Amino acid sequence: MEDCLFCKIVKGEIPSQKVYEDENIYAFKDINPAAPIHVLIIPKKHYNNILDVKEQDTMIYADIFSAINKIAEKLGIQEDGFRIISNCGRDSGQEVMHLHFHLLAGCKMGPKII
Ligand code: 5GP
Ligand code: ZN
Repeated sequence: MEDCLFCKIVKGEIPSQKVYEDENIYAFKDINPAAPIHVLIIPKKHYNNILDVKEQDTMIYADIFSAINKIAEKLGIQEDGFRIISNCGRDSGQEVMHLHFHLLAGCKMGPKII
């Protein structure tokens, strides 16, 4: 999408610190980390958020969660664990309207971190 920040990151028009990439997925460090490890996992294809992924597109979730598995291994956080969050819509405080999953790790987390 033309004016989408994360689409620009996928295209390399805005720099990012890449953590993982495959055919359909891109993952990079959050610019304003809420935990010692804070990675954003996004589909390369633009969806606004979870509500924008219709039934015919739900295979993207398999790609996202299989990427998360590989990222956890790459970062060596399988044992200590991590948290996955996806904000959707106004009440969640979603700021960037390109579907993304936050991976938070590297500290003990209370019930609310983001
Ligand atoms: P949301 O609130 O939409 O779930 O999260 C958006 C996330 O994107 C925030 O955690 C914010 O720090 C991150 N973010 C916003 N702009 C940029 C950017 O230009 N680069 C990177 N790496 N992260 C960004
Ligand atoms: Zn986008």
